[in-house]
Amino acid sequence: MECVFCKIYKENKDVIYENKYFFAQFDKFPVSPGHAEIIPKRHVASLFELSDEEWKYLKSALVDVKEIIEKSDLKKVYEGFLKKSN
Ligand SMILES: [Zn+2]
Repeated sequence: MECVFCKIYKENKDVIYENKYFFAQFDKFPVSPGHAEIIPKRHVASLFELSDEEWKYLKSALVDVKEIIEKSDLKKVYEGFLKKSN
């Protein structure tokens, strides 16, 4: 089974972070500056399907991605998105 997120991971474009079970990207239509998505590599319908081990990796993904967002030049990130969409 494949969904839009499985497809995103396969294409591996714009991945800003990755660990054993998760990857992350900046949202292309950010609700607020720095809006990023942490996505499970395994296809699950809900976060509640995650195993205990995956929850642990989600926690470290949250901490690491927060740091990446804070260190990112968001103006550059969004300018890059605009260039690609033209
Ligand atoms: Zn999926």
